[in-house]
Amino acid sequence: MLKTKILCLFYQILRYKIPQTPWLFVIFLAFFHPGYLMNLANAQGLSEKWFSEQRRRMVSNQIIARGVTDSLVIKAMLKVERHKFVPANYRYFAYADHPLPIGYNQTISQPYIVALMTELLQLKKSDRVLEIGTGSGYQAAILAEICQAVYSIEIIPELARQAEKTLKELGYQNLKVKVGDGYKGWQEFAPFDGIIVTCAPTRMPEPLQQQLAEGGRMVIPVGETHNQELIVLTKKKGKLSRTAVIPVRFVPMLREDGRIY
Ligand code: SAH
Repeated sequence: MLKTKILCLFYQILRYKIPQTPWLFVIFLAFFHPGYLMNLANAQGLSEKWFSEQRRRMVSNQIIARGVTDSLVIKAMLKVERHKFVPANYRYFAYADHPLPIGYNQTISQPYIVALMTELLQLKKSDRVLEIGTGSGYQAAILAEICQAVYSIEIIPELARQAEKTLKELGYQNLKVKVGDGYKGWQEFAPFDGIIVTCAPTRMPEPLQQQLAEGGRMVIPVGETHNQELIVLTKKKGKLSRTAVIPVRFVPMLREDGRIY
């Protein structure tokens, strides 16, 4: 986009000039600091066309380039408008290669992690999936693009309500969101072909293992704060087998009283 290019050029010139002209740096900070960039997104500076170009780049540079090959996942990541799930003042960064704050000390995961976890679930169109940690609702939307039914649980009522609103506005009808403690799963709709957990408990939750269908997979970060492993748990003939994929850093899974699981 022209505006961004002009900005980069200006920045390059300033970097060169700064030692001689500190006042120019002050002007630069006043007008072009990240707050200004964030506001650009609000001020119609960024069109839907710009967002969809960012999304296409995100999929090719962050997702396909890092080895995600499942065509259903790629298609969903190309389709779902991530910028509709992030707070307005972060929209400029919606397709950037990192997590973003969504309020209440929570984050929307990095796009690559969303794609990787979804691929690890190996979903089919006919599958029913449980998600723990609705957050912004973005991961739920990706799942809803791929499979038959999505059930998502969020412990913070305000986040659950906001996510429900966004998902409804975008027209998703094959998903249910509820406020509650996801550690316990959602017995009413169990068993699930896939379970994806986007907050980290220190131990594998027993109820979720039970609610996994025969042949199903659970993708879950497990471990202490800042030191977790992404685990894939598979159920075959009633027996669970566990594979560690990569080290990850998720927000902790919380109990209703706010303590960490
Ligand atoms: N999947 C989300 C990212 C969520 S971040 C997205 O796409 O935006 C993790 C979320 O897990 C937070 O919103 C947090 O409130 C929620 N969470 C933490 N503990 C939980 C629990 N016990 N049950 C359900 N949700 C929980």
